[in-house]
Amino acid sequence: MSGEARAGYLVLLSGGIDSATALFLVRKRGGRCATLSIDFHRRNRREVEAARAIAEAAGVEEHAELGLGFLREAIDLGDEIRSEVEAQGVPLTFIPYRNLVFYSIGCYWAWIRRLETVVMGHNAEDLGLFSDVGPDLIGSFNSLAAAMVPWRPVRVEAPLIGMKKLEVMRLALELGVPLELTWSCWREGKIHCGVCEGCAKRKEVFRALGVKDETEYER
Ligand SMILES: [Zn+2]
Repeated sequence: MSGEARAGYLVLLSGGIDSATALFLVRKRGGRCATLSIDFHRRNRREVEAARAIAEAAGVEEHAELGLGFLREAIDLGDEIRSEVEAQGVPLTFIPYRNLVFYSIGCYWAWIRRLETVVMGHNAEDLGLFSDVGPDLIGSFNSLAAAMVPWRPVRVEAPLIGMKKLEVMRLALELGVPLELTWSCWREGKIHCGVCEGCAKRKEVFRALGVKDETEYER
């Protein structure tokens, strides 16, 4: 990568494994690094707390939480929208234009701190689920961002976009990501419930890699 000496990253942290891995990946490259958690409507509190702990473990220069309570998932947008999204086969966690909003906020947040790159934790499996993720969209967004502030544009990077969850996990282990601090459960219990889709996927990935899962599960 060119320009590493002056590299500066803003990592959008969700509290899950993917964005934590993206964070530790860019930390390894060196340079400045800050993190931001975007707190939308009914955001899982445990995820927000996990993001805070991960940022601390990574020793970033600044971690911030930004409340955007008006941003709601399809499941909270009423029956009409909910059915429309369901009919498309899109998960009900869909937030229309989420990534456009996140990238734009990330660019602003990074720019005023003189950081050059906004880092997102999207992986290859997100691509199949949501229409607002992907290298082409990021490329288009970056062209737009470069045109809007031509003298010092911020760009968005998704370093895990070519990797499936299992490969992300392998990389996380390689990088020494503190996986015990990440949160995958869809509920907000004291510990992971062990049965929701998020927990099931977490268990599956640990099992597939033959790695000891230090996560505490209710079941
Ligand atoms: Zn769970």
